[in-house]
Amino acid sequence: MPVGHPGIDLMCQKFGRWRVVQELSTRIHGQIAWLCKCDCGEERTIGSGNLRRGLTKSCGCYRCDAARKQMTGVTGDRHQDIPMARTPT
Ligand SMILES: [Zn+2]
Repeated sequence: MPVGHPGIDLMCQKFGRWRVVQELSTRIHGQIAWLCKCDCGEERTIGSGNLRRGLTKSCGCYRCDAARKQMTGVTGDRHQDIPMARTPT
């Protein structure tokens, strides 16, 4: 093991849908930032703390997979309270 390494090696580990592909020189809140690749192909930089504590398990595609079927084309609009048409009696 190389001396001076922080001692955290998440290389090639899987966290949910993330696979750690590369250690970055960047630090996030003092923690090592890792380049992670989601199962869907999305790449993102994630701090080691978030990975190890399971705070992130995917790029968001896990949530979106279900919603995408119903919400194609909707971007960034969280206003989903579409009033149901009330049938007058
Ligand atoms: Zn994904």
